[in-house]
Amino acid sequence: MKKYVFGVDVGGTTVKMGLFNVEGEVLDKWEIKTRTENGGEAILPDIAAAANAKLEEKGIAKEDVAGIGVGIPGPINEEGVVPFTPNLGWGRKEVSKELSELTGLPCKAGNDANVAALGEMWKGGAEGYNNVVMVTLGTGVGGGIIIGGKIVAGSNGAGGEIGHLHVDDDIPGYCGCGNKGCLEQVASATGITNLANQALAASDKPSMLREGEVSAKTVFDAVKADDELAKEVAERFGKYLGTALANITAIVDPQAIVIGGGVSKAGTILLEYVEKYYQKSCFKACKEVKFALATLGNDAGIFGCAKMVL
Ligand SMILES: [Zn+2]
Repeated sequence: MKKYVFGVDVGGTTVKMGLFNVEGEVLDKWEIKTRTENGGEAILPDIAAAANAKLEEKGIAKEDVAGIGVGIPGPINEEGVVPFTPNLGWGRKEVSKELSELTGLPCKAGNDANVAALGEMWKGGAEGYNNVVMVTLGTGVGGGIIIGGKIVAGSNGAGGEIGHLHVDDDIPGYCGCGNKGCLEQVASATGITNLANQALAASDKPSMLREGEVSAKTVFDAVKADDELAKEVAERFGKYLGTALANITAIVDPQAIVIGGGVSKAGTILLEYVEKYYQKSCFKACKEVKFALATLGNDAGIFGCAKMVL
């Protein structure tokens, strides 16, 4: 019977590492630097060395460890192979195989947004469910879909890329993916800021947002202060995201939808705007879906990575 598992969330500047027991309690968590130079060749050896050192420090035998789960910021297939990960300096890499050889432990790798969804399902906002859609509203819009407790990774590792759903032909500018009209362009922190700036330019309505710099946070702060123009921005945001989520539920019919990322710090008021438009266009059988805020914050990744192994 295995007792322990590692969850490792690899980011562009730091690698977050967690040692868990199999019940999902964090025994220890720490960070190491992501060394992306020389094609990121040191990243996996650094992770292996940190994991081995932790086992030694805690006096844990390798045979008591179920394995090591790794989240990668980019597409990755079911076999744990990445085609390329520019953030880490990697070209094609067999992540699971290499890390397994370096540690002598079973290794499973997944996309970071997908594993975050798995983490929220296990110990976060969607605890107790096993059909979950998660959307992360940060600098971009990430997503993860869990069906029957398993990540939907897809054939190119691009499953759950909710941020790149096409929502509008008429959005100015282009998405980071090169397309035009992606959800990310209107529902990310940057997207909400853009919607607010467009609204400010289009009218001379008085608004708190006219003072100081506009951000997703100032928009929702203004909504809470009953600012009319900010509320119009929140309506537009809610319509885009709520309708997109209704479209997704018509395909995957989840029990819960979890919203995370920096923008979700606005709290339940954000859910109200999203849910209002979700209810307008969702398929009737999916009306009872539970909307929840993510609760694990930046730790969702390490939780999900650990769960992926178990
Ligand atoms: Zn896009």
